[in-house]
Amino acid sequence: MSDGITPSSLTLMCHAVSDAVIVLDEAGRVALMNPAAEEVFGMRAGDVVGRTGTDIPALAPLYEVLARPASDDGASPVQRVWLPSGYVYQVRALDMPGLGRAAFLKPAPAVDSSRGQLALQMGTIIHTLKTPIASAKMALDLVLALEGQPDKQADFTRRAQHSLDHMLSIVHEVIDMTWLEAGAALEWAQTDLDELAVHVVEQLESDRAWRGVTVDVARAPGGCVVWGDERRLMGAITNLVSNAIKYSRPGGTVRVHTASDGRTASLIVADDGIGIPPEHIERIFEWFYRVTAPETRRIEGSGLGLAIVKAIIERHGGEVTVESEPGRGSTFRFTIPVEHEA
Ligand code: ADP
Repeated sequence: MSDGITPSSLTLMCHAVSDAVIVLDEAGRVALMNPAAEEVFGMRAGDVVGRTGTDIPALAPLYEVLARPASDDGASPVQRVWLPSGYVYQVRALDMPGLGRAAFLKPAPAVDSSRGQLALQMGTIIHTLKTPIASAKMALDLVLALEGQPDKQADFTRRAQHSLDHMLSIVHEVIDMTWLEAGAALEWAQTDLDELAVHVVEQLESDRAWRGVTVDVARAPGGCVVWGDERRLMGAITNLVSNAIKYSRPGGTVRVHTASDGRTASLIVADDGIGIPPEHIERIFEWFYRVTAPETRRIEGSGLGLAIVKAIIERHGGEVTVESEPGRGSTFRFTIPVEHEA
């Protein structure tokens, strides 16, 4: 798309294509909705153009695709999205310099009933739970920000937030599991592990505060750049950091840092929490395995997190290790090659 394109020529072009097209301007307002998109979403362009995209719930499944950073050619990878109407579409987002970002939707090919495809479809559907959970969390943030609330009310609100965080982490784990089960391809790109770690810690802030744990992230000067699938590596780091927070005691400290020898890069998550009895260490990376001990009985979990970390890191050609001492804490480390061998 050249810089010289005008909004009116764009409108003409979008009316001529069979894909459904929605363009958001740089402020996130709907700038264009072509007739095919009117049909897909069951709304008229005249009713939505000029409105902020995030105010239109029917467009919610597109936000994540539109929010994802584009690669060098300005396009995002094709993603399957499940619309509230029940139909699955393939969506690609494209940068439109000077105009904003466009989403192109075409019906996804029928899913065959092979195990991997069904798993992918399941993941797509579960994915749609993320938006309502995030909206509920946002509403609770607003409630907590209200002044003059009785302590009890604020306490219940925090509990509800914590339950939503737990729900969201299960949603993420099931999405990752279905993706791994389907054997889907990694999206290789240059990725800074330090940046991902900072981002993960920001996202886990309410969990950290809830459990009264400190999390320190030490960023290496210049970062720690590897070839990898950003979204999957972020999933692996989230599982390790959220476990470290979850299995810490109040007042505990979690430390996250990276290291690289130029050939391989590692991410290390260390906590001074409850630790893992040696007889369980061998098994904690198995699907659905949870340590049963008096200290862990009240801590919620699914037993999926570490199995996901292991599978993601192995798909990157790396490995995960753990050192732990009951009562003293645990250190998890994953190591992956810096370069991707095609
Ligand atoms: P869960 O959902 O149970 O946390 P995981 O697969 O993430 O599932 O972890 C498996 C088990 O390993 C947990 O049930 C827990 O007993 C143990 N574990 C994982 N991380 C830690 C940690 N940082 N400290 C202590 N125990 C841990």
